[in-house]
Amino acid sequence: MPSYFFEKSEKDLSCPVCHDIYRDPVILSCSHSFCKNCLQTWWTKKQKKNCPLCKKINLSNDPPRNLVPLYLNIDFENISKV
Ligand SMILES: [Zn+2]
Ligand SMILES: [Zn+2]
Repeated sequence: MPSYFFEKSEKDLSCPVCHDIYRDPVILSCSHSFCKNCLQTWWTKKQKKNCPLCKKINLSNDPPRNLVPLYLNIDFENISKV
């Protein structure tokens, strides 16, 4: 397998805030995802709930939902098609 494959997948799995692999990942309404801790730290600093990447305000008062692993998404799609 070509090495760029691993580089890309690793980048996709890294948090834009801490540049590390997601820990307890959550996803915002803008579809950007972060570690839960990173997001909470960011929000505490900024005192408003916006996205660290695109700065879009997260208007929902609901907590960000957990990021579903890709293989679960695929399974779910397959199930719903049957
Ligand atoms: Zn992080
Ligand atoms: Zn965003």
